[in-house]
Amino acid sequence: MIVILKNGTPAEEITRISEGLSEVWEVKVEKSVGKHKVILGIIGDTATIDTLQIQEFSPWIQQVMRVQKPFKRVSREFRYGEASEVIVNTPNERVYFGEHHPIVVVAGPCSVENEEMIVETAKRVKAAGAKFLRGGAYKPRTSPYAFQGHGESALGLLAAARDATGLGIITEVMDTADLAAVARVSDVIQVGARNMQNFALLKKVGAQDKPVLLKRGMAATIDEWLMAAEYILASGNPNVILCERGIRTFDSKYARNTLDLSVIPVLRSLTHLPIMIDPSHGTGKSEYVPSMAFAAIAAGTDALMIEVHPNPARALSDGPQSLTPERFDCLAQEMSVIGKVVGRWPQQVLVNAI
Ligand code: PEP
Ligand code: MN
Repeated sequence: MIVILKNGTPAEEITRISEGLSEVWEVKVEKSVGKHKVILGIIGDTATIDTLQIQEFSPWIQQVMRVQKPFKRVSREFRYGEASEVIVNTPNERVYFGEHHPIVVVAGPCSVENEEMIVETAKRVKAAGAKFLRGGAYKPRTSPYAFQGHGESALGLLAAARDATGLGIITEVMDTADLAAVARVSDVIQVGARNMQNFALLKKVGAQDKPVLLKRGMAATIDEWLMAAEYILASGNPNVILCERGIRTFDSKYARNTLDLSVIPVLRSLTHLPIMIDPSHGTGKSEYVPSMAFAAIAAGTDALMIEVHPNPARALSDGPQSLTPERFDCLAQEMSVIGKVVGRWPQQVLVNAI
């Protein structure tokens, strides 16, 4: 349930309403200040509450609405239709993820392999316009015999790459036990597809301050995905970015997954959270990555994640879907053409592309 306040409601009145509502109905009241409205979100057992009774609570209440969706805090209704933004302070700049901001490009290798390759890749993706370096220290692998990531030492290498470039860092946490170490290095914490419904992990990333990149489980419905995001918000962290990375369908002969680009308009209508598309895992083949990246930009994505490796043929994980730095340079130029048409390409990259 949300309570929409009239413009100009005095701060003391907002406090009075919030405290009053939580006292009388034993609910949690969360204030969100949008561009146009102040909204109070009511969380708890609201089924028996009469909206008229709430309406009578204050003449400053403009409207009381029930949120019909199973997910509350992540739903678009909860913010009265306004998009939220996730703001990340990277060493170089403050980066905004969201519907009303330029598209954020995140790039890097699947795994952090050694210092030279991660620093080199960071420099190359930065020069092409990426704002974040993404590389795995802890890797979820289907086989226990496959490379599992270098773990904590790779976190140190990511820190070195950040020092060398000023890029923001994104890396995955798989285990609650590693969260503190990951959070020390990572500006945004990735929860991978396989952990999308690891509720213990979701609660833990929700109880810390770093923004969270929540990848869609490979067989997760949109409702399940949004409920997973709801766990993070319900634990206190409002900064979640949703990343579509392809789902498993009946045909995986030619593409690793089916990249569900229809989530862009669907999520846009359901949630206020920013949207990222990962065409690398989405297709599993480097030659298909550019066309899906273009399509994602045209469809309105807020961010892209693209795997880049200095030598894909020798990569320890996900080589077949990784672009070389040269191909990534070229892709960045090509993406800028479409990004510019939709009015969402960052200035700096536009300048480079001209
Ligand atoms: C990754 O980002 O490298 C990764 C393992 O992704 P996903 O969780 O989407 O499979
Ligand atoms: Mn990967």
